[in-house]
Amino acid sequence: MLKLEQWNKSFNNNQVLNNIHMEVSTGDVLTIIGSSGSGKSTLLRTINFLEQPDSGLITLGTQTYDVAHVSKQDILAIRRQTAMVFQNYALFSKKTALENVMENLLMVQKLPESEARDKASHYLEQVGMANRMDYYPSRLSGGQQQRVGIARALAIQPEVILFDEPTSALDPELVGGILELIQDIAHNDTTMILVTHEMTFAKEVSDYVIFLDQGHILEDGSPAQVFEQPKHERTKQFIQGFS
Ligand code: ADP
Ligand code: MG
Repeated sequence: MLKLEQWNKSFNNNQVLNNIHMEVSTGDVLTIIGSSGSGKSTLLRTINFLEQPDSGLITLGTQTYDVAHVSKQDILAIRRQTAMVFQNYALFSKKTALENVMENLLMVQKLPESEARDKASHYLEQVGMANRMDYYPSRLSGGQQQRVGIARALAIQPEVILFDEPTSALDPELVGGILELIQDIAHNDTTMILVTHEMTFAKEVSDYVIFLDQGHILEDGSPAQVFEQPKHERTKQFIQGFS
């Protein structure tokens, strides 16, 4: 479904992603774990071209794009197939929950207003926000704002959803509800790439796990392999730090 090959990204002289190769199959959950600064967010952001990768190949479905030769149209096509859910929700503060979800449907997908409204309502209902559609973000809890962020990603019906630490800004009592929602979405056969520090959750929900260390994939495999029998001392230390 999604494949990256020889994927590289530097900021100035700092090579943040170093020759990344990864694949996620349709309906699977790929989880990326790793310390702060290891490049997890940059990896997601380059997949979505929020940050321009330096080089590499990205395959989405049957289409392969070479970063060296992507056009503006290609980038739009890639963005349409990959939706991001952000740690800090990234909602428009001057728009209601409904308007936040409608935004891309109107602007990017060019849906007529009534169709965008119906679709946005549908996905807000799906994430448990039927009663809050007309609320502005400032009147929503962090958990509710993240539900809007997730509805916004679902509404564009992407091939892959990229979750960047979706619960790490939440009050502890709100984390469980969002993890449950993500699990429901995963069970609906949604393909996802998830960055998280919720190790117990990662072990349950993932089909495949990558441990990113200083921009390299140090270790990858099934959740059982990576969490129960890590090959590398660094992976072991990292995982032990959470238990
Ligand atoms: P993680 O999400 O794993 O914490 P990031 O991808 O945010 O890591 O960051 C990886 C490295 O890239 C860090 O050293 C960070 O300082 C650097 N970095 C990230 N974004 C930028 C940027 N826009 N400009 C310069 N350096 C950046
Ligand atoms: Mg990050």
